[in-house]
Amino acid sequence: MNLNLNNKVFIISGGAKGIGGAISRGLVEEGAIPVMVDPSDKEASEIIDLAKGKALQIPIRLFSAEQAKEVIELTLKTFGRIDGIVNNAGANDGVGLEHGNPDAYANSVAKNLFHYYYLAHYALPQLKEHQGAIVNISSKTAVTGQGSTSGYISAKGAQLALTREWAVELLPYQIRVNAILPAEVYTPMYASWIQSFPNPEEKLQEISNRIPLGKRMTTPEEIASMAIFLLSEKASHITGQHLYVDGGYTHLDRSL
Ligand code: NAP
Repeated sequence: MNLNLNNKVFIISGGAKGIGGAISRGLVEEGAIPVMVDPSDKEASEIIDLAKGKALQIPIRLFSAEQAKEVIELTLKTFGRIDGIVNNAGANDGVGLEHGNPDAYANSVAKNLFHYYYLAHYALPQLKEHQGAIVNISSKTAVTGQGSTSGYISAKGAQLALTREWAVELLPYQIRVNAILPAEVYTPMYASWIQSFPNPEEKLQEISNRIPLGKRMTTPEEIASMAIFLLSEKASHITGQHLYVDGGYTHLDRSL
């Protein structure tokens, strides 16, 4: 299947490591140009090498509207076009209801959610011009709950709602908007979370055993395959969808 992504330009927040890193690498393999908004220098330069220079790192921790505007401006100045964005940067920061406080909650929602809107907002003129696509990386926790993480979950749920809302608003421009819900993906963030348990290996095995398809974690590349397909013209009649790439974790009986 030719995804026809050659020389198309995509902005990926958190695009150097983990799921975002796999999306950037996959885009390079398709001849596309990833713009990685991510402070992780080492991983970003490996991807730039892989792309033989046809990639860009914007080394910031995206938070404000002003930063998002600058990301769009710098991308346009460097490559002259934007064909899509992947809103991906975020972290499960464990700000709960009981063990949390209003300031920490507000900050967690802001960190995990607001830049999704900001990037989409400032990229819109370009997305209109090129009939671009938006992919929002949410989480199965938005629909299952997790416990002890009210801020992160608020953001992940809102990302699903915004996916539907933007899909509707952008219908007249043929801009497609979809969300991916990963469940258990072994990334640097996941690795550091698993290390917080007294016996990380045992905990990892316990979680893997609950994943119906193959009793294994989803790989970042498996999430990337879906994201890249959704960005491409091959997904030309898919919009407003919430796609679970999770080995059946969310919907199938986990005792299988
Ligand atoms: P990860 O391993 O931590 O990689 C994320 C990358 O994004 C890192 O390079 C990180 O830099 C960077 N980053 C974080 N916040 C940023 C910001 N505000 N601006 C720019 N860069 C930022 O995370 P991941 O596991 O790949 O997660 C990616 C997305 O998938 C998140 O939205 C997460 O909620 C979602 N997700 C993941 C899982 C899973 O099982 N892994 C499950 C459900 C949903 P630093 O390392 O310096 O922070």
